[in-house]
Amino acid sequence: MPGINLKSPSLGVAVNQLLEQVIDSLCPLCEQRSVNSHLCEVCAGWLQPLPDPCPSCAAPHTLNTQCGRCQQRPPPWQSATVGWVLEGATRFLIHRMKYHRDFASARALARQWWQHQAMHQPSVDALVPVPLHRSKARKRGFNQAEWLADHWARQAGLPVWTGLIKQHPTPPLEGLNRVQRRQALKGVFLIQQPPPKRVAIVDDVLTTGATAAELTRTLKRAGVQQIELWTLARTPLGNL
Ligand SMILES: [Zn+2]
Ligand SMILES: [Zn+2]
Repeated sequence: MPGINLKSPSLGVAVNQLLEQVIDSLCPLCEQRSVNSHLCEVCAGWLQPLPDPCPSCAAPHTLNTQCGRCQQRPPPWQSATVGWVLEGATRFLIHRMKYHRDFASARALARQWWQHQAMHQPSVDALVPVPLHRSKARKRGFNQAEWLADHWARQAGLPVWTGLIKQHPTPPLEGLNRVQRRQALKGVFLIQQPPPKRVAIVDDVLTTGATAAELTRTLKRAGVQQIELWTLARTPLGNL
């Protein structure tokens, strides 16, 4: 059952939490009975894992070896861990989470991802959610990357590091080429505290990879030595 949208984020969160307690036994996709609002077995089967992904960019069908694109131009992060292809049920649940603040969908996805990745001892010191610019955060009232980072940090027993901000809003990146995307994002993140040495950047979806790449470069300049990328899903085409 979907959560509801309210103008006030804190009131919205409180009402959503109350609703969650009431409806905490339904699968968020088919709304059949399901313990603790987990995805039921049938619906969990609709989430499509990336087949044999590239360890650097998660492009599918690479037999788990680095794809040609990454061999030519490796991404700045060390590895990408991505749950599913951004299609069908995955796309629907992420949309529910992101634009309708549906925490049942968010929890179901985050839990399923954690089990799927079996990353019970990740080799990082902290999780870093991709920040939103404050105007966007205010408008949406919810940063899905922060929510995911909080959830996975609890699972991993790690802190969430939020010592950086997005200084200004960026235009939509779809339709821009790689150089234009990089230009549009240059210098957009500002580090405000010394970061940990090894981090995982957390976001809901890996699309062009341009935002994560800029964030990675910024963190590296501030002294971070190892950077992983964790996202729920990836766009189906290998167009990073
Ligand atoms: Zn279901
Ligand atoms: Zn690759």
